[in-house]
Amino acid sequence: MHTIACGRRAFTPSKLICVGKNYPSHIEEMGGGLRPSQPTIFLKPNSAIAFEVDQVFIPEEFGLIHHEVELCFAVGRTGRDIPLAEAHSYIAGYGVGIDFTLRDLQAVAKRSGAPWSLAKGFDAAAPLGRFVEANSVGDPCGLAIVLTVNGISRQSASTSEMIFSPEEILSFVSEFMTVEEGDVFMCGTPSGVGEVRHGDVLHAEIAGLPPLKIEIIRKGSQKGI
Ligand code: MG
Repeated sequence: MHTIACGRRAFTPSKLICVGKNYPSHIEEMGGGLRPSQPTIFLKPNSAIAFEVDQVFIPEEFGLIHHEVELCFAVGRTGRDIPLAEAHSYIAGYGVGIDFTLRDLQAVAKRSGAPWSLAKGFDAAAPLGRFVEANSVGDPCGLAIVLTVNGISRQSASTSEMIFSPEEILSFVSEFMTVEEGDVFMCGTPSGVGEVRHGDVLHAEIAGLPPLKIEIIRKGSQKGI
């Protein structure tokens, strides 16, 4: 099981709870559609976490991979049916993550109405940086969020564009499932998602949070890295 650091605490997330379609600009680039009336939720397993790593290996045969930079938060205590007004007290800290997506595989799943589990849940599908304590972050819905590939800007937005805030997402999900201490939420991505290739170096940054820098390895074997 993978562990993450959040301030002085260490967490072993039981699950990663992810939001799709949380930025209007990303909904637009994926073909449009209505603004969602409630968060679109999917999960990644703990085994998808790559915490504070310099490289990730994703086999070439997995096909097209897209980067999605996302604001993430870690849950500080277990809860169920968390009222919106209390949701902030369950958030231990914020960090930067990338929601890697096997876009071709996801497209096949979408066409047939099948789940996205493999397209979103493969090993290393969730690189995460260090989390900082929530009280050291100002308004989490007012942060610049950027991703560069080999120094070239691909995604650049503000978390103010999110349709659902971290508190709204947490409260909503807790109506259906127990949100456990250490669980990580990934809050969706702005527009600019795109392909990553062997040797690419990704820089993901959200203002005030520890940045994430990762090299993509797609050729050869994981052994020896
Ligand atoms: Mg995403």
